[in-house]
Amino acid sequence: MSDTMLDIQDLNVYYGKSHALRGVSLSVEKGEIYGVIGPNGAGKTTMLNAVAGFVDYEGSITYDGTDLATVGPQQRVHEGLIYCTEDRDLFPFFSVHDNLLMGAQFRDDRDAVQADLDMVYELFPRLDERREQEAETMSGGEQQMLAIGRALMSDPEMLMLDEPTIGLAPVIIQDISEAIERLQDEGLTILLAEQNSTFALRHAERLSLIETGEIELEGTSEEFHDNEYVREAYVGVH
Ligand code: ATP
Repeated sequence: MSDTMLDIQDLNVYYGKSHALRGVSLSVEKGEIYGVIGPNGAGKTTMLNAVAGFVDYEGSITYDGTDLATVGPQQRVHEGLIYCTEDRDLFPFFSVHDNLLMGAQFRDDRDAVQADLDMVYELFPRLDERREQEAETMSGGEQQMLAIGRALMSDPEMLMLDEPTIGLAPVIIQDISEAIERLQDEGLTILLAEQNSTFALRHAERLSLIETGEIELEGTSEEFHDNEYVREAYVGVH
């Protein structure tokens, strides 16, 4: 069995005449955290949207050995490819608890769902304290935790996180960091898109830097740390 969870080859996405992703290739190994960093508008979200099946693309995306060309977005979720979008997409008038249950709506094994609920509440005690609170009344950080928690309720094999730290206070970012570390310890594969390079470098084993739709650099977190351009342009600004 291959150790590759996600393999992206020569990915191109167009929005009308605009060429948003230009020949992007990368692969994510099972159990690793792979970071994609880059400035606003670089194409990070577009890449995740293509992997989730939300935008048309040219090139190939293979997930756990299966070419996703003919696999629809819902089937990708069934296969454990779970996307936590930058917008979070919570059900605003649902409680925390009901939002979490929505993440498990396609699962049949009630015992496993209950075990995951317990796991999410343990991972994010703030959610546990607010089980009955409406999602829209939660703080930004709590909503981000809820979005990650709901994604976990879908029983991911690979979790795609788009800008999980955006707009959050350092103390909340720390909580999210600790949760990601625990998920990594449990063997979850994570594709992390972040403008916050410091956060991405802290968690990812390997990374790509995307600028204007193209991969400009790829390497290990050590190589990124040592790279003068990355340090000057991206690290230390957050
Ligand atoms: P951010 O960090 O701001 O989310 P990003 O790296 O995720 O940025 P994308 O959102 O993927 O970047 O955007 C890449 C480019 O594609 C940008 O120029 C953006 O304006 C454009 N774009 C994104 N979505 C659409 C769309 N639906 N229609 C037209 N252009 C789009």
